Amino acid sequence: MMKKFKKSELKEFEKILLKEREKILKGIDYATGQIAITQTEASGDLSAYANHMADQGSETEKRELSSLNISRQRETLFSIDHALRKIAHGRYGICEKCGKLIEKKRLKIVPYARFCIKCTDK
Ligand SMILES: [Zn+2]
Repeated sequence: MMKKFKKSELKEFEKILLKEREKILKGIDYATGQIAITQTEASGDLSAYANHMADQGSETEKRELSSLNISRQRETLFSIDHALRKIAHGRYGICEKCGKLIEKKRLKIVPYARFCIKCTDK
C-alpha cells in the first residue's frame, strides 16, 4: 500500500491551492491592466507624455516586467491546476519522478510542487 495523504490533509492543501489560484488570477488581471495603462501612455497622450517624459525608459521596463510577470504567473497557475487535478485523482503529493510522498514541509511552502526535494535537486 503506497503512502498517501489523508483526506483531511488533502482538503487542507486544496484550500491553500484554491486561495493561491485566486491570488494569481488577480495578479494576472493587475499586470494586464498595467500593460494597458503604459500602452495608452506610450501611444501619444500628450499630457501623459509630458508627465512621463523623464521616465520613458522605466515605463518600458515596467511593461516588460509585467509581461514577464504574467508568463511566470501563468506557469504557476498551470501548476496549481495540475495539483488540483491530482487531488481529485487522489495522487496529490506523490513525486512524479520517484513515486514517493513529497515532504509535507515542502508542500506547505510550495503546495503545487510536482517532485520531492531529492528529485528537484537532480
Ligand atoms: Zn522524487
